[in-house]
Amino acid sequence: MRALSRRLAAVADLVPPGARVADIGSDHALLPAWLVSSGKSPFAVAGEVRDGPLKASAARIEADGLQDVVSVRKGDGLAVVAPGEVDCVVIAGMGGALIASILDAGEAAGKLHGVRTLVLQPNVGEDIVRRWLLDHGWHLASERIVEEDGRWYEILEARSLKDADRLNAALYDPSFLGLDRPAERLEALLIRMGPWLLRHPDDCLFGKWLSELDKLESVCRQIERSDSPEAAKKLRDLREEIELIGEVLACLQAVSS
Ligand code: SAM
Repeated sequence: MRALSRRLAAVADLVPPGARVADIGSDHALLPAWLVSSGKSPFAVAGEVRDGPLKASAARIEADGLQDVVSVRKGDGLAVVAPGEVDCVVIAGMGGALIASILDAGEAAGKLHGVRTLVLQPNVGEDIVRRWLLDHGWHLASERIVEEDGRWYEILEARSLKDADRLNAALYDPSFLGLDRPAERLEALLIRMGPWLLRHPDDCLFGKWLSELDKLESVCRQIERSDSPEAAKKLRDLREEIELIGEVLACLQAVSS
């Protein structure tokens, strides 16, 4: 059994034991191969839209002798699964907007019927995924952040629950931050930074956001070269954002030290 990278190991960790899994955008089918070989999943679908990765997936599954328990399928997003065929859908290693569009299309086609858990790992645009989950009645049950090769990856576990809206309302209540800002502004911040990640801050969270602050400062320096009114407005917004993120980090640092 091949070892998974730290990022994929964190994704695998959030898959419920015993779940039949669809890994959408599976590339080399590393994750489904590991899930069934380790005994965590009885069956997995490796979905891929491109021929090259599809061939790589099929070759790996054959080499590992897993053809009976991992089905390699070509198709766009959730088109590769039948409604009710899997309990858990994993979508990892793509942008948040693409993940949300795959979920939109899958939901419209009834492919999320019977799915109890979504494990989503956007490379960017995590806020788009959290917003999608909120808007579609999925409860954000847990979040992880891991560092690999100098990059930070967030992994979101969502559950299909009857009282998702009530649980999400409590989860996205920003009062625990103790910051005096409009509620919508703070809710947007939780969607951006992750409500579980902010409640359990660790070195990875600080590492990611200190790096993001550096990037935002560098955007500010570029904008400062322009003297258009739009640039001035953009600069004000960015400065406000930097200040707020800085305040959140300072308050989390104080609580966790
Ligand atoms: N999931 C693996 C991981 O996390 O290591 C592979 C990530 S790889 C960067 C993204 C993969 O998603 C590529 O192999 C790409 O072909 C596939 N992909 C992109 N859009 C897709 C779609 N709409 N349906 C299925 N696969 C897709």
